[in-house]
Amino acid sequence: MNQRITRRMFTTGGAAAALSATSFRTERACGAQEPTVPVPSSPVALEVRPYQLMCVICQIGRGCTENLDDPRLNEIVKAVRQDRKRPLTLRCNTDHVYRYQNPGHGEDTSEGELFNAKRDLDILQKLGLVPGDTRPAVDLIERVLAKVIVSRDICGYEKVTSETWRGCAQANSGNYEKGRALGIKAIFPPRNVDEKARYKKSSAADVYEARILKIRPHHLLCMSCFYGRSGKLAPIKEDNLFEAIDVIQKNPDIPVMLVAGCCMICPPCEKYDPATNFCVGGKSMALRDQKKDLDVLQKVGLKYGDTLSARQLYQLVYERIHSTRDICGFGDNLASAYEWSICGGAEKDGPYQKARTERLGIKG
Ligand code: SF4
Ligand code: SF4
Ligand code: SF4
Repeated sequence: MNQRITRRMFTTGGAAAALSATSFRTERACGAQEPTVPVPSSPVALEVRPYQLMCVICQIGRGCTENLDDPRLNEIVKAVRQDRKRPLTLRCNTDHVYRYQNPGHGEDTSEGELFNAKRDLDILQKLGLVPGDTRPAVDLIERVLAKVIVSRDICGYEKVTSETWRGCAQANSGNYEKGRALGIKAIFPPRNVDEKARYKKSSAADVYEARILKIRPHHLLCMSCFYGRSGKLAPIKEDNLFEAIDVIQKNPDIPVMLVAGCCMICPPCEKYDPATNFCVGGKSMALRDQKKDLDVLQKVGLKYGDTLSARQLYQLVYERIHSTRDICGFGDNLASAYEWSICGGAEKDGPYQKARTERLGIKG
């Protein structure tokens, strides 16, 4: 790829727009097939200062809900509530090699340039990110909640050493900490309980009526963990793992098609977005899950669209995948970054081993 992303592209269209333009060309150059389903265009990244994400949380902690008493914070919270996947690009003023993304001082708060520069860098350091990093809003805000515990030494200091470092007037209010305690639900309201129940009912019925089960590859392993963890198998509200196992145990010859992305297991899940059929779990869940799916396909030597009987498929899975550590622990059980966290079922894979030994309860 020899296309350069210029600073102008970065600053006018945003990094995501620049990157998506590049990857489109790359995909065509490689002769990729036309997608059979129209793919929604990627939203343009919203550029934010790191401190603004903290201020959103702080204002919510102060008791605000819709109106955060600041037009810019209102704009941010409205945009992310409309689309929790909206990419956010973190930009702040630097005086060195990261200058290409400097936003200027237009959105500095009144405490002065030095304080604004330090506050943004303090936050980035805690987040483990750098200027210009872009993440889906839900991921980034969850990360702020997880990594920035208190506003002390970010928004103000125990000792005011000079007027330059007087800090924000709200620094000792406790509002940020109160907003943090309210958690992600205060920013993104949970899925409606009745709507989830309707999805559970209809999607569970779909599993029982299906002539072909459509399942994403790593969910074959999740079904195994679910089987191995359960004393007596029973349905749960949050997914259709039980129903898929039940159908397979009753009819091991049912065809299973391997599909990309969300599958028949997902519709009742809190993290499922019915509008897009995406998984919008934080901590980049969709990214990790895509890698797990591809790792499973590679190990069993199959591809999306391949269809085998459940019996054959599980024979292959249990023969080739000896432990969830190989898939969900990425081989070494080391989380190489915040986004590549390891599921507890990979650290202790007893349930998977039980399912593997008992062949998921498939008879014959
Ligand atoms: S203390 Fe001030 S700068 Fe810090 S998060 Fe609250 S409003 Fe924003
Ligand atoms: S929506 Fe996401 S978290 Fe929920 S079952 Fe599907 S893949 Fe798993
Ligand atoms: S370890 Fe976690 S993600 Fe992996 S298969 Fe088991 S439940 Fe699913």
